[in-house]
Amino acid sequence: MKERPKNPDRREFLKKGMAAAVGAALFPGAVLASEQENSEEWYSMLYDSTKCIGCKSCSVACKRVNHLPPELEKDGIHDDAIDLSAKTKTIIKLYKSDDGRSTFVKRQCMHCLDPACVSACPVSAMRKDRTTGIVYWNGNRCIGCRYCMVACPFEVPKFEWDNPIPHIVKCDLCKDTYLKEKGITACADVCPTGAIIFGKRGDLLIEAKMRIKKNPERYNPVIYGEYDGGGTSVMYLAPKGVSFQELGFPRLEKSPAEISESIQHGIYESLVPPFLALGALYFLLKPEKKEGKNDSGK
Ligand code: SF4
Repeated sequence: MKERPKNPDRREFLKKGMAAAVGAALFPGAVLASEQENSEEWYSMLYDSTKCIGCKSCSVACKRVNHLPPELEKDGIHDDAIDLSAKTKTIIKLYKSDDGRSTFVKRQCMHCLDPACVSACPVSAMRKDRTTGIVYWNGNRCIGCRYCMVACPFEVPKFEWDNPIPHIVKCDLCKDTYLKEKGITACADVCPTGAIIFGKRGDLLIEAKMRIKKNPERYNPVIYGEYDGGGTSVMYLAPKGVSFQELGFPRLEKSPAEISESIQHGIYESLVPPFLALGALYFLLKPEKKEGKNDSGK
């Protein structure tokens, strides 16, 4: 039998309410559950690893649009990036699964529905656009603490260690560049095989499910990012028989942002009693205000 929820203790209720208010005031970038109801409309990408031929046109286009320099090989000619970095916002990697098959996987920011980087940022320099769902970095606010780098479960944000005025670098879905001009991300636009498609999250989920249904022999029936880590705007299809863990994706049952938020709220909760005590002390010890009198004694 289901138990009726207990009436919350009044002091506990006030404590939690104040903690939430302080948290919301200090972390305005955090995404509320009600805002995620809009996520079907958010900009998204679906990467179908069964269609990728590893040509790297996507990463070249990303560098061109974002004015990122190559990470040169010893020959001084070829870009030899081996992972995401402050010079590389997206990369194609090759994974060998247990049965010996090779699968290409594109890496970039996943644009999480409830981003851990946003909830970890103490100054709201990392933000999520409520209309588009894009997670982006605001350099004017950043204090360089790099909490976003630690919080991200996909190890996406990178720091410009060799820049005296360093930036945090990560994919922003070409927010102010290609997307603004052409209505699509550069990587999705140049992909010659249709391995990357751009659109609204709701539509891409329908497309992904349709591909799986039409071709059950070709696909792993799971769409990575539909629910993983609380859901992401960049989603993946993998070949049948290849698990996402074999392709380097973490197993994330729930949103990592929930964990960091619960830690933060715990801190605020522990701060509330000292603040209340200080307030009470102030009123007790406050010197009595004397009524002023004029020279005539009135
Ligand atoms: Fe933030 Fe990392 Fe998610 Fe991108 S993948 S939104 S950087 S937590």
